[in-house]
Amino acid sequence: MPAITMESKLSAAVGGKAAKAFADAFGYETVGDLLRHYPRSWIGRGETSDLSELQPGEHTTVIARIVSSGQHPYRDRRTGQMAYRLETVVEVGDAKLSLTFFDKKRHTADWRHNLLSPGTVGMFEGRADWDRYKKRWQLVHPQTDILEQADALTAGAVAEEERRKLNAVRAIYPATKKLSSWKIEGTVKIALENLDSVEDPVPDDVRRSRGLLDAHAALRALHRPDSWQDKTAALTSLRFQEAFVAQTILARNRAALAALPAHPRTGREGGLLDRFDARLPFDLTAGQREVGEQILDDLAAGHPMHRLLQGEVGSGKTVVALRAMLRVIDSGGQAALLAPTEVLAQQHARSLAAMLGDLAQGGMLGGADDGTRVALLTGSLGAAARKGAMLDAASGAAGIVVGTHALLEERVQFADLGLVVVDEQHRFGVEQRAALTAKAGEVPPHVLVMTATPIPRTVAMTVFGDLETSTLAELPAGRAPIQSSVVPLRYQPQWLDRAWERVREEVGKGHQVYVVCPRIGGDEKEPADGEEVPLAGVEEVAPLLSSGALHGLRVEMLHGRMPADHKDRVMRDFAAGEIDVLVSTTVIEVGVDVANATVMVILDAERFGVSQLHQLRGRVGRGGLPGLCLLVTRAEQETSAMERLSAVAATTDGFELSRVDLEQRREGDVLGSAQSGRRSGLRLLSVLRDEDVIVDAREAATEVVAADPDLATHPVLAAAVRRLDESEQADYLEKA
Ligand code: ADP
Ligand code: MG
Repeated sequence: MPAITMESKLSAAVGGKAAKAFADAFGYETVGDLLRHYPRSWIGRGETSDLSELQPGEHTTVIARIVSSGQHPYRDRRTGQMAYRLETVVEVGDAKLSLTFFDKKRHTADWRHNLLSPGTVGMFEGRADWDRYKKRWQLVHPQTDILEQADALTAGAVAEEERRKLNAVRAIYPATKKLSSWKIEGTVKIALENLDSVEDPVPDDVRRSRGLLDAHAALRALHRPDSWQDKTAALTSLRFQEAFVAQTILARNRAALAALPAHPRTGREGGLLDRFDARLPFDLTAGQREVGEQILDDLAAGHPMHRLLQGEVGSGKTVVALRAMLRVIDSGGQAALLAPTEVLAQQHARSLAAMLGDLAQGGMLGGADDGTRVALLTGSLGAAARKGAMLDAASGAAGIVVGTHALLEERVQFADLGLVVVDEQHRFGVEQRAALTAKAGEVPPHVLVMTATPIPRTVAMTVFGDLETSTLAELPAGRAPIQSSVVPLRYQPQWLDRAWERVREEVGKGHQVYVVCPRIGGDEKEPADGEEVPLAGVEEVAPLLSSGALHGLRVEMLHGRMPADHKDRVMRDFAAGEIDVLVSTTVIEVGVDVANATVMVILDAERFGVSQLHQLRGRVGRGGLPGLCLLVTRAEQETSAMERLSAVAATTDGFELSRVDLEQRREGDVLGSAQSGRRSGLRLLSVLRDEDVIVDAREAATEVVAADPDLATHPVLAAAVRRLDESEQADYLEKA
């Protein structure tokens, strides 16, 4: 018989019947598929999976002692026959959980009642539903495994296998109705017994120096630990393995980028950059100077820069990017700035031109000698304007071309594209970056990615592993802090009136206000059952405010369904101070810069994510005036929505908030869902919790790749890398 490995057909290890069950339930084909079906949790006696984390409909397993059990005969309305309901209550930690069983026959009902008598300890598995009346979780017809009989007479008869269960740490698996955790456990056991060997992607010396288990031992200990230490060792080893394979991919990408050629852009004395610096109306912050130097060094190198510039909204990333662009222009090249939305692209073009003044009026009357030009290229441009912008890009007359996705179109060409700046990276994928960099021709351009959504270091390292990271940690001086408060409508409804008063006061002082709604309104679908109040919509809220609480103020709307020229006009009017209150959707989320805006009221704030709220409120308090952000919500106390809002109100530290965000999303979103992680094995690693592991794995991987870039001496690692690269996870690594 051929040796059973992770690549063997599942049927060869566990038999055709079981293999088919797993193929049907999960689509598994190989032994590896099954053994990478990792336990969801582990329980030992007296422990349970945590009830507070349950979701309705989730399959769950508990080990618990029965505290009461009562049989309730009733007449089945459909059949007219007697039937029996058994209501059993078990204690799970401090909480109680109901188990409900239905039996048609008297004798089975009695047998069950007897089996599940108070004092008995069992393991129960089933679908969890929330019992609204009793206010507790219930499992209807759970599978039952008696671990300890209450009755002393039968206790002695507990089989040896049952005893083992009593002491062991047991794996609890993600299960389905047909394939329970126990069936999975049993099949995994057989597969492990028949498994001859497992190839380990982690080189021996890397593993040994860290005292980790090899892949085979780790799998065994993960599924069938003898002790809690055993399980922990397995997790540690497998997490390192995952991190190591992922970091090997990233290390190879970095090495490949570093090997590419690029035109060094060294600028020149007395060029645009020097002249721009000389006339800057403010001093650069220490961070801006430091990052700026770093970038100028990168640009002068003979291989392409790939740098991520992180910084809070308002931390002055744009100035840093502009200085880099000027250096490239001074070296005869051009820069493209890719923005995620039309509004942002326009705003960038406008503010770059304003910052540059006559330096951006090259070839125009009154323009500086050797000045350059800023061209704008978006989807909504008229044919003539578009043609002009494209000409300026192709001829090199425009040193800076700002645009949306329209920049990526094939027809758009550059004379000499030397730098690509991507604003708000998270909206662009790697292919889009690639489509733009391809416009530089044979020699790839330098790339600077800017994001205002701060990412914890390890996430950045994992998700943007091919980018070097710089961070602007401080805000420019004179920036007033933003004060944020939650307005909990369920508990303090009168605070909303107070909020509108506050808006009036602020407008009275000559300032401006944003009101943000989660939807546009109008013909959009509303909650069907009429139970819930529909979410605030721009088209309803704006007229309501201007005829009610904000009567007499100049209130206007802004949302994505408005024609581009209309949107542009509203934004311009708001920027010019001709609108007091702008009621909008999140179209204002990124980058919009109106220094005179001091208050933002976010309606149904729980509808927005943490990062989004943080970004949104960054729109106020930009002009040295203190900002105020009111988070209006109908969320209830002690819900995760309220927690999120409180966190946003409590801190303006973007890194802290992005941690909260990731924790709340449980990171599945970062590294892919359990399902998509199956084949590649990026399953156990948590980018927040496993910071040390990731940093360690990155170092180890970088060393391995440096010594052997093609991984010729590490065939197993090379294969694992290929698998991960081909999986969806690789997309996550690059795109998230
Ligand atoms: P970001 O793009 O990081 O959100 P911006 O570059 O748009 O931030 O800067 C926000 C505002 O602060 C702009 O009006 C900009 O001119 C101004 N600014 C940038 N750097 C400084 C500085 N060092 N001192 C004072 N103001 C600055
Ligand atoms: Mg910006």
